[in-house]
Amino acid sequence: MQIAMDGPAGAGKSTIAKRVAKELQITYLDTGAMYRAITKGVMDHGISFHDQKAISQYAKQAVIAFEGNRIFLDGQDVTEAIRTTEVSAHTSDVAPIPEVRSVLVKAQQQIAEGTDVIMDGRDIGSRVLPNADYKFYLDAAVSERAKRRYEELKAKKALEGKTLSDIEADIEKRDYLDSHRKVDPLMCCEDACRIDTTEMSIDQVCARIIELIKDPKDGEAL
Ligand code: C5P
Repeated sequence: MQIAMDGPAGAGKSTIAKRVAKELQITYLDTGAMYRAITKGVMDHGISFHDQKAISQYAKQAVIAFEGNRIFLDGQDVTEAIRTTEVSAHTSDVAPIPEVRSVLVKAQQQIAEGTDVIMDGRDIGSRVLPNADYKFYLDAAVSERAKRRYEELKAKKALEGKTLSDIEADIEKRDYLDSHRKVDPLMCCEDACRIDTTEMSIDQVCARIIELIKDPKDGEAL
């Protein structure tokens, strides 16, 4: 079984996908973490974000590995280091580069081969798993997404001095860049089921998704 879950930043994709994976006992893959890891590597190697050639070369030889909930880049645990606001902001410089996407999409497709999996990202339904059995597009009002991200960073003591409106502005900018890039932009596929999570709890969204997987007739576009 393959499940694609796309949507903008802060729509709840990773939290929901993790829960659904646990419930269905299938593999969860956070593809955003892979773009973030490459971004972190670019920063660590002092590569300029304007140097697309050097970034592509780095992406081709970087080694990304997942062990349980941890992600490793070139043998180093970068699980927390890829969540800083600096990495979040610069991921939008790295993610539009076609060679980077090609390397990561191939790696994601290899992970999915022969495995029951739920993947979250921006291009899962459109590019990575176009034949997925189920496609979901999670969305929420930007003010709500910013609020969720603010609370998450606050709980982790990782606000780095940012206010709620700074975070809302960051999210709006990232959404714009993700949905306007030339290669594999963020979009809701025609065959995806769109769920607006603005007024829904995590439990409600999970229950709805499980219900749709068990009884697709119930869904609008599955
Ligand atoms: O999902 P997350 O917010 O961690 O993703 C970080 C960034 O990685 C996104 O803003 C986007 O630019 C990029 N990304 C992507 N394609 C994916 C997953 C993430 O371009 N499949």
